[in-house]
Amino acid sequence: MSKQKILIIGAGITGLRTAQVLSQASLAVTIVDKGRGVGGRMATRRFTDTKADHGAQYFSVKSKAFQDFINEAEKQQIVKPWKVTDKTHLRYICPDGMSTLPKFMAQGLEVKLTQKIVRISNNIAFTESGEQFDFDKLVITAPIPQVLQLFEESEIELNDDEKNILHAIQYDPCWALIAKLNTSSGDTIAGGKILENSSVSWVVDNAEKGLTVSPTLTIHASSSYSQLRLEEKAEDVAKELIASISDIVNPEHIETYQIHRWRYALASERANEPFLQLKNYPIYIGGDAFGVGNVEGAFVSGDAIAKAIC
Ligand SMILES: Cc1cc2nc3c(=O)[nH]c(=O)nc-3n(C[C@H](O)[C@H](O)[C@H](O)COP(=O)(O)OP(=O)(O)OC[C@H]3O[C@@H](n4cnc5c(N)ncnc54)[C@H](O)[C@@H]3O)c2cc1C
Repeated sequence: MSKQKILIIGAGITGLRTAQVLSQASLAVTIVDKGRGVGGRMATRRFTDTKADHGAQYFSVKSKAFQDFINEAEKQQIVKPWKVTDKTHLRYICPDGMSTLPKFMAQGLEVKLTQKIVRISNNIAFTESGEQFDFDKLVITAPIPQVLQLFEESEIELNDDEKNILHAIQYDPCWALIAKLNTSSGDTIAGGKILENSSVSWVVDNAEKGLTVSPTLTIHASSSYSQLRLEEKAEDVAKELIASISDIVNPEHIETYQIHRWRYALASERANEPFLQLKNYPIYIGGDAFGVGNVEGAFVSGDAIAKAIC
């Protein structure tokens, strides 16, 4: 009997965890991702001679399945415990950058990068560049507004329950600025800083996390500011964010910076179940919009989808 073919859209934590478990169960799994690397929102960017995490900053570990996996990653020195200033329980970070965890998970898996799926028809997924991937089962882990768009292009009809679940899911956006400081500036931000009542919600020095020796900040705008300024020019937003933390970091100490607009950063309204299986199609939808809404939630969602398929 030939093996079932499983196609997974998205090489973020959800898609990679699904693929890991299905591969261990000897199913034929292919992951496709539109990006140039794996990880999705677990993202680390290199610029000039430094690097910075510009998506997820750290993660919590509360469930047994995730703890077991993280213990293994810790043994391989991919992750380490980390204390966030003002928070009592420990978080984890990846000392070489958050993208090293998805890279570790992708080892041994078949991952096709720079392949954006734009339509699904009769158990075939079509990419923007005209490639086709056939499947027996399809797992989709993209942010839900993008999933709904894909279904519209594919003339996939959802029933009322499915529509209610998917349309209720909402995300907060986030403008993320990464900035390299002059080495001589002397500015440091110990352990990361959660700011309140400001246009900036989070500042950390990636040198403190161990990613780089040059002081290199990640500055996340608050969700309310990001929503308000979502469609503004990136350059204008960057200047505003730099000005708004001038009491912590002298703008003259910033040597160079880059800014990124995350349209779907954190799932603010989520489904309770860890995934949704469509009634009339062999399609499973998962991701951080199902469950607790963070890195661990993505892992738990991927795990649950794989177990349901097995
Ligand atoms: C700025 C920011 C800060 C965050 N901070 C934290 C934090 O501190 N702690 C925490 O736990 N979480 C944090 N998060 C959230 C965390 O990063 C996510 O919950 C988690 O990484 C989601 O994983 P995922 O696999 O569900 O989705 P993603 O990582 O988004 O993966 C989905 C993948 O699907 C791909 N894709 C989408 N559409 C298509 C298509 N049509 N064809 C092919 N591929 C496609 C994308 O390229 C992407 O790689 C943060 C996120 C952001 C953006």
